[in-house]
Amino acid sequence: MIKEFFVQTEKRYELKDISQTIENIVQESGLAEGLVLIFVPHSTCGIIVTENEEGLKKDWLNFLKKMVAGFDFYHNQIDDNADSHLLAGLVSQVKVFPVKKGKILRGTWQQILLAEFDGPRKRKIVVLTK
Ligand code: ZN
Repeated sequence: MIKEFFVQTEKRYELKDISQTIENIVQESGLAEGLVLIFVPHSTCGIIVTENEEGLKKDWLNFLKKMVAGFDFYHNQIDDNADSHLLAGLVSQVKVFPVKKGKILRGTWQQILLAEFDGPRKRKIVVLTK
């Protein structure tokens, strides 16, 4: 089963927890054991698996911003978002998890976060269960 949903982001850089929506889609799919693939069809946002804790989310964003600070990016001559493309590629735009007994097999501190790097935008998230 393949399903899509949308998330509206509010800031240029932002992490939004999408775990529960994806858990619901897995449940609706009726899949007991298999895989869930989560994909964002965008070039300037990605998916991070981490603990959803306010301090840690700030740490992630501060860390990522520093990684792309101080560069004279070529892409900024035509579209002022080279940092967004680079970070989206680095954190990846696809994640795969095992599904067991109808639930995503993940650790207690493994939440699935949409990583916005060029918001605010309406983002599509594609979920494939197999
Ligand atoms: Zn661009």
